[in-house]
Amino acid sequence: MRIAEIYGSLQGEGLLTGTPSVFVRASGCNLRCWFCDTPYTSWEPEGEDWSVEEIVGEVERQRGPTLHAVITGGEPMLFAEMIPLCDRLHAAAWHITIETAGTLFLPVHCDLMSISPKLVNSTPPAERAGKWRERHDRTRHQPQVIRRLMGAYDYQLKFVVDQPADLDQVQAWLAEFPEARRDRVLLMPQGIDAASLAAKGKWLGQYCREQGFVFCPRKHIEWYGAKRGT
Ligand code: SF4
Repeated sequence: MRIAEIYGSLQGEGLLTGTPSVFVRASGCNLRCWFCDTPYTSWEPEGEDWSVEEIVGEVERQRGPTLHAVITGGEPMLFAEMIPLCDRLHAAAWHITIETAGTLFLPVHCDLMSISPKLVNSTPPAERAGKWRERHDRTRHQPQVIRRLMGAYDYQLKFVVDQPADLDQVQAWLAEFPEARRDRVLLMPQGIDAASLAAKGKWLGQYCREQGFVFCPRKHIEWYGAKRGT
């Protein structure tokens, strides 16, 4: 399994915000979102192949007072090694969050499936993406996978919102999945600096209040800036 980095930090996004966690960042992605904040796992993937044994060893080495592991990416569900990796972490009593775009299913052990569906607003421009633009649009929405993930796991749905116009796309997505729990719908502003996140947070927070969604700040940007290993 190709790994870009493994590090301890605080979870900055979602229902477990603030929880001390060890992050395992897989490298490689089947999408190419224009706003990707980890291009070193997607547009220009970096990292080495690690065995499951090596990953578990490093997670244990980084462990703090809590046993929370976050397997993120890139797209970790690309890797079949996720099955034995999650089995091993579960057996050692780790709480496992998997961060995925929800285009691929694997029968993994997982305590919180953090699904970040990619909407039309994620599509990259042709000048930058070339053939990836069409591939991204063809792949990004896999309703049968989303339904399977929501049926099999405790979940949160984390939408990246860049502009007010994106909110119609969120509503259209939710209309397709009436079974999705509204209290598990998180709207997160797009951005990698505190000023733009704060500006977008104003109107997005108000919208969440009106609609009953959960506003999802990107606290790690506020705490550490857009730095790797945080
Ligand atoms: S799915 Fe995630 S990792 Fe992949 S390109 Fe989009 S934002 Fe980046």
